[in-house]
Amino acid sequence: MDRIDALVIGAGAIGLAVARSLARAGRSVLILEREGRFGAVTSSRNSEVIHAGLYYPPGSLKERLCIAGRELLYAYCAERGVPHRRCGKLVVATDAAELHALEALAAQGRAAGVAGLALVDAAAVGVLEPALRCQAALHSPLTGIVDSHALMVALLAEAEDHGALIAYRAPVEAIDRQAGGWLVRAGGTRLLATMVVNAAGLDAQAVAARIDALAPALIPPLHLAKGRYFTYSGRVPFTRLIYPLPVPGGLGTHLTLDLAGAARFGPDVSWVQAIDYVVDPAERPRFLAAARRIWPDIDPDRLHPGYAGIRPKLSGPGEPAADFRIDGPARHGLPGLVNLFGIESPGLTASLAIAGEVMAQLGIEA
Ligand SMILES: Cc1cc2nc3c(=O)[nH]c(=O)nc-3n(C[C@H](O)[C@H](O)[C@H](O)COP(=O)(O)OP(=O)(O)OC[C@H]3O[C@@H](n4cnc5c(N)ncnc54)[C@H](O)[C@@H]3O)c2cc1C
Repeated sequence: MDRIDALVIGAGAIGLAVARSLARAGRSVLILEREGRFGAVTSSRNSEVIHAGLYYPPGSLKERLCIAGRELLYAYCAERGVPHRRCGKLVVATDAAELHALEALAAQGRAAGVAGLALVDAAAVGVLEPALRCQAALHSPLTGIVDSHALMVALLAEAEDHGALIAYRAPVEAIDRQAGGWLVRAGGTRLLATMVVNAAGLDAQAVAARIDALAPALIPPLHLAKGRYFTYSGRVPFTRLIYPLPVPGGLGTHLTLDLAGAARFGPDVSWVQAIDYVVDPAERPRFLAAARRIWPDIDPDRLHPGYAGIRPKLSGPGEPAADFRIDGPARHGLPGLVNLFGIESPGLTASLAIAGEVMAQLGIEA
């Protein structure tokens, strides 16, 4: 039977970043991916925003790993030629009642150490983005956008350069504790690994339930929050990302740009019981109303159903937002095992820092 140092389950941005770190540290690595290609699930169904780190509770993993991950990601993109742009964003208060919440968000971001934040009045907003209508805005110059596919191509290429292998159509079926490691069954093959990293995203709980030695109480409940996007066919008069104030479960239906300048509005938050990525055209009036709040002159005929992603949340509707969970031996007592649960936004931004955290939990120097 083949023996390997580390098995990484899932070839999304997180699994690929972890595989890259392990391979760079000289470990033999095999990535097992259920689908026929990498990045087929949440890592290709998001806003591709490099978050500055405004929103997260003080001391949370989300705050720490977003801020550290953002800088690592900008440096990595520059070094590896991954297309990205530090375009900045404006969080807007569209009426006077929102000004207090905007100031609170600015204070939270500053307390987290996010540099460059500035509260700007309507006149100053008019200079930055003449087509934008609001009472005031919070300018975050460190926010940016990244080509998530190119990022994953770069991570996988670097992992492979250091000897990592990837197997597609290899769904992990069972993980059994053995003396000195783990026996993993996937796609009809059995492998022995010293370390197993479960980076299966929306399926992380299902994969964890297949680990014989893991107590079920250590597997958190999964809540699904769908986020839908409507795309805009035509040019938009903005150069920065435009966000409303955050809403429960998400950041509010915002306007993001891709690197070609194409715009989309979303994602909204809708709690679902099952995974489907349909975007119902009947939602158009709601998206149009949200878009008009920041851009009154939008041409309604150019707004079309786009795509959707699903957030793997650890908190349900009405509950306080949960943190990422990166469960290593310190939590579950099982050497060589790390489970990643609830890696929703800002997971893409934080991917390289999350990989560093996994390495630390495995006791490996990056
Ligand atoms: C609507 C939305 C918008 C977002 N916007 C942003 C943003 O702008 N900025 C940001 O930083 N973050 C954002 N995020 C979060 C970000 O997209 C995720 O945190 C990140 O992509 C998670 O990557 P992952 O590798 O954990 O999961 P995934 O990309 O889902 O990868 C998991 C992989 O595991 C595989 N898998 C599942 N089960 C098995 C199995 N049994 N065996 C083998 N493989 C398996 C899957 O096929 C999949 O490829 C957003 C998320 C959503 C939903």
